[in-house]
Amino acid sequence: MDPDKCCITRFPAPVLARPAKPIDQITVDIRRLAGRMIDIMLETKGVGLAGPQAGVDLQIFVVSIDGTRENAKVYINPEISPSGPLEENDEGCLSLPGIYTKIKRHKKCTVTATDLDGNRFTQQSEGLLARAFQHEYDHLQGMLIKDRMGRVAAIAHRKRLKELENEYKKNKS
Ligand SMILES: [Zn+2]
Repeated sequence: MDPDKCCITRFPAPVLARPAKPIDQITVDIRRLAGRMIDIMLETKGVGLAGPQAGVDLQIFVVSIDGTRENAKVYINPEISPSGPLEENDEGCLSLPGIYTKIKRHKKCTVTATDLDGNRFTQQSEGLLARAFQHEYDHLQGMLIKDRMGRVAAIAHRKRLKELENEYKKNKS
């Protein structure tokens, strides 16, 4: 893994579809990876980015709910416990450009994760932030919004998914 070479991966890159591995040690490379992921997230105007989206199958995500560097935070080996009622809202994903779809998420979410100093911390959230945690955590399980959307949305987005598949094939060859 060369953190400097990490760039955004798009569906159907295989790394997006498989569970990410836990990080055993916060090495210099992990710190550089986190920095690179924050850069990618800010450059692409996202509010969150998970390891697989940077082409790395490790359990790490970064979130900045207002898209600023000051509020960007790193979550390593996160565990989440969503709670409260389900709310439906529009969601997009940097790995599925052009797709916005209604996704049900719990209104609240508690996340426990390790920071870059190796300390375990717990954070409560609700609303947009709770949604971001559930979305990024899904990435670490190999799950995308296309796997969560309803049947009607799946039909509506079928063409765009096919386009992304074709673009991926073209870029690979
Ligand atoms: Zn995403």
